[in-house]
Amino acid sequence: MSDYLVKASVYGGMVRAYATTTTEAVEEARRRQDTWATASAALGRSITITGLMGAMLKGEDTITAKIEGDGPLGAIICDSNAKGDVRGYVINPHVDFPLNSQGKLDVKRAVGVEGTLSVVKDLGLKDYFTGQVPIVSGEISEDFTYYFANSEQTPSAVGAGVLVNPDHTILAAGGFIVQLMPGASEEIISKLEKAIEFLPPISSLIRDGKNPEQILQQLFKDDDIKFLEKMSIKFQCKCSKERMMNAIKGLGKKEILEMIEEDHGAETTCHFCNNKYNITEEELKTLL
Ligand code: ZN
Repeated sequence: MSDYLVKASVYGGMVRAYATTTTEAVEEARRRQDTWATASAALGRSITITGLMGAMLKGEDTITAKIEGDGPLGAIICDSNAKGDVRGYVINPHVDFPLNSQGKLDVKRAVGVEGTLSVVKDLGLKDYFTGQVPIVSGEISEDFTYYFANSEQTPSAVGAGVLVNPDHTILAAGGFIVQLMPGASEEIISKLEKAIEFLPPISSLIRDGKNPEQILQQLFKDDDIKFLEKMSIKFQCKCSKERMMNAIKGLGKKEILEMIEEDHGAETTCHFCNNKYNITEEELKTLL
């Protein structure tokens, strides 16, 4: 089944919940960037959470999340929109470590424990929201939980997981974000905390065939959930030759002249999807 995301209102509107599968989207990122297992898990968790945050936007708004830790992965950069398009890349895709003491992919070791998580939301009409927090765990989900509490003042529980096959393809990926609305009572807060505590790892639920509705049903009791919307989510790059030419234009006249005189053209590669663009000498000249 293709990846999709659901939005729901829980406990009479006091909690907003989002859940998604991203197995295909993360596999597409892995295939395009040749990420190794630990890198796939870090990138996949980031893509999943950025995709969920995109679903909180409206219209043409976009969100970019950047995790810059001191681990061997280098930065992870993801973006998404309100239509379910998400993409992301990692600076060093060839990172893989033995499983950690809990038998899980050692994302923290790959990401690092020092650094920053920053989020930029482009809300149209030159309206931007930016937030930045220090990395608190390196496991990604906990870092976004901290981000929501501190930069958006929205108490949230964030979970994202990726399971990788022995051949490094993606077996299962997905995640959820559950947020407390202002005015939620202590009773609702403690119900929510209990519900989250007893939820098995999301990646194993998805591996076992659970869909996003069933994940929220496992988290909350049926009569507490009102499903609001369902949307597909996919790895979708927005690069184009025009965008690549614009990026080259930004390098300045001197660089462009060198490309013309020394290389008689330019080849650029999109970080997100690995598509190559060949810019001819004639095309470079139009940039001057
Ligand atoms: Zn691309």
